[in-house]
Formats: sequence, C-alpha cells, structure tokens
Amino acid sequence: MGPPVCLRMIRLVIAGIIVYVIYRLSRFLFAPSEKILKSHPRGASRIKGEELVKDPCCGTYVPVSSAHKATLNGETLYFCSRECLEKYMKENS
Ligand SMILES: [Zn+2]
Repeated sequence: MGPPVCLRMIRLVIAGIIVYVIYRLSRFLFAPSEKILKSHPRGASRIKGEELVKDPCCGTYVPVSSAHKATLNGETLYFCSRECLEKYMKENS
C-alpha cells in the first residue's frame, strides 16, 4: 500500500511551493536589468549606450553627451572642457 492520500497531497503542495520559489528566484536573478530599464528607460539606456571619447588635448575620456565638440579638418573632436578645446584649436591651427 502507498502513502495515505493526505500525505501525497502535502508532497504535491510542497513540490508546488518549491517550483514556485525556483520560478520567482530565477526571475529575480535574471530580470533586475529589465526592471531598471522599465522604471528608468531613458536613464538606463543612456548610461548603457554612453560612448566615451578621448580628449586629444589632455587624454581624458569623456562621455559624448557632456563633451565639448569641435570640428578640425573635417574631423569631429571631443574635449573635456572649453579650455582644452580652445588650447587644442590654437595649437593645431
Ligand atoms: Zn581635456
């Protein structure tokens, strides 16, 4: 004879809870980045897709969005500050 019906039901419930916990845990482990993107879509994508450019004057890496842009001989250059931009343009003109 197998185990009583109530015991089998308890086992089934426990198995269900374990599956549910694993499911929630895997979602928690694999979804945090998705959550951030959903709550702050612009901010997250901006940070993630932010491109760093090198300041040719002082060698500092600056994000494109906050860099000072200048065009020299048809080439776009990025600087960390207005001072670097002006200094570089003076030296290379
Ligand atoms: Zn600089």
